[in-house]
Amino acid sequence: MIDLRSDTVTRPSQPMLAAMTRAETGDDVWGDDPTVLSLQARVAEEAGKEAGLFFPSGTQSNLAALMAHCGRGDEYIVGQLAHTYKYEGGGAAVLGSIQPQPLDNAADGSIPLERVAAAIKPIDDHFARTRLFALENTIGGKVLPAAYVAEATQFAHGKGLATHLDGARVFNAVVASSQSLGALAEGFDSVSICFSKGLGAPVGSVLVGSRALIDVAHRWRKVLGGGMRQAGVLAAACLYALDHNVARLADDHANAARLAAGLAQIDEVKVTSHATNMVFAQFPQADCVPLEAWLKERGILTQMLYASRFVTHLDVSAADIDTFVAAVKAYFNR
Ligand SMILES: *Cc1c(COP(=O)(O)O)cnc(C)c1O
Repeated sequence: MIDLRSDTVTRPSQPMLAAMTRAETGDDVWGDDPTVLSLQARVAEEAGKEAGLFFPSGTQSNLAALMAHCGRGDEYIVGQLAHTYKYEGGGAAVLGSIQPQPLDNAADGSIPLERVAAAIKPIDDHFARTRLFALENTIGGKVLPAAYVAEATQFAHGKGLATHLDGARVFNAVVASSQSLGALAEGFDSVSICFSKGLGAPVGSVLVGSRALIDVAHRWRKVLGGGMRQAGVLAAACLYALDHNVARLADDHANAARLAAGLAQIDEVKVTSHATNMVFAQFPQADCVPLEAWLKERGILTQMLYASRFVTHLDVSAADIDTFVAAVKAYFNR
């Protein structure tokens, strides 16, 4: 099957599985797993932060970070389109007693700072205490403008807010912008990074930040049920991904560009945006269900909606993209 639904669908490769079976392990709740410790230290160092913490998922890593920054009755300012707001089941409110203050994202994924300024609450018993400003990079595949990130993080700190980056796909930004992980993490007090998105690992996220912040997040990870035991087998997959699957993200970006160019040739399809490993396109509403079935019969998995997203990853080749585009053309020419 050619699966374009997400970059989470990759299966661990044979060499990744071999690295997992070789991993030295220990009980990580006791801090005894050398492979987890080595992954945490490596990601923290590359991101220019003091410490790292391994999580089973990006959702839990983001949530523990929010709970480390904010207490009950505090709020975080976040984009309407942000994963931490829109796609995590309201976890900050449900489990952290943290109020979100969502603001509209601009087309480039940024949140205009005049809107942020207007949303910061005065210190007054009527209001939640505004504590944190959260951004996402990449967002909808787009790399946030570096000048915006520098200005936004300085602005937030100037207002006494902490800063969090949901960097689930930050390595896509690293490769697309030729900035280092350290440069992209600069200005953020915490950064969450996924290894199961496009990097090919089956599980795993790492949160980085100051030692003090990570100590608080460590406590919340245990409370949230994320303390894992011989997790070195999983961390080994992430270390393998760091060594072998980062630079090759450039192939995914080239394949997404190829996919966008292919769809753009089809009159019935409107490509609305494409960046890094994602393409967004609109299809006639009446064709979505039959087209998705048509593609599935031909071994291609998509989620066809009026506004559809296609995601490239390490299990999709340039030839697969051509097969997909040809199948969409054949559908409209049938
Ligand atoms: C997928 C994703 C997450 C959460 O990751 P899970 O590991 O699926 O919980 C967080 N942020 C962004 C931007 C994501 O795309």
